[in-house]
Amino acid sequence: MRPPPWTLALFLAVATSARAGDIRILPAEEAGRAEASGLAREALDLRPARRWAVAESPRFRVWAADVPAAVRTVARAERWSATLSGTLGLPGLEDRATVVVLPDADAWARFLARAGLREDSVALHSGRGTILLYEADGWDGHPDRLPHELVHHLLRQAFGRDVPLWLDEGLAGLLGWETVRREAEAQGIRLVRRLAAPEPDRLLPLNALLSVRTLDERPESAMVFYRQSEELVRRLDRRIGRDRLAQWVAALCGPDAISLETLLRRDHGYKDQDLMILDEAVRALSRTPGDVD
Ligand SMILES: [Zn+2]
Repeated sequence: MRPPPWTLALFLAVATSARAGDIRILPAEEAGRAEASGLAREALDLRPARRWAVAESPRFRVWAADVPAAVRTVARAERWSATLSGTLGLPGLEDRATVVVLPDADAWARFLARAGLREDSVALHSGRGTILLYEADGWDGHPDRLPHELVHHLLRQAFGRDVPLWLDEGLAGLLGWETVRREAEAQGIRLVRRLAAPEPDRLLPLNALLSVRTLDERPESAMVFYRQSEELVRRLDRRIGRDRLAQWVAALCGPDAISLETLLRRDHGYKDQDLMILDEAVRALSRTPGDVD
């Protein structure tokens, strides 16, 4: 059977960018939804098998509503995960991850309801190598969905569950946006990000922020935690320098992790006063509405 002409066009377009000679398109029936994790199957069951398109690269298998979306997403996942693992100083991925891209916000809402997940979620990483998200038009809304989840995925592959929650979400927030902002800039588009500013009395002291182990079910509390975690990581990144990011992240993760306070006192000369300044600076930054560079 002749392939549709756009299949060839896509291959050519992708082949000229990132090593996409490694990308192949699979018939959905052959891709084997049985091997997908529980959450991925919940999402895949929302559409009949024949209505999924599947594209595969060495490190990702992407299920999407059509071939262009599957190929675009698998090429981005390969390119962005390579950049992000370089920034984080982490090894490349070994196991192939599954990415399921739901076609729109309605399908995403149906998936969240079916899986019993928080309705304000815009994407998620299952912890078992599965990333789920939906694709919005252009750069609107949350264009950082995929790189945000890729950061969680890379950290989980490298350190297992031994990643502090503030660091996991703070890095995903900071580096996820950095990734899409650069990509948009390369296309001559300036992305503007709007960040919610929590009420001052909802902000957490630094010690409380560092000790959070699970995300609050209430969306407003989760929003405060996301914002403060990202401001803390941004402040540390700027103070310590991007060239040392991989080093301090590795010190805080894994079975031999040290605490942030130990790291700052031992390696960066912080005293009580500096920790108080950091605490106040993170809360002040988190109260600032509007865009963040
Ligand atoms: Zn996250």
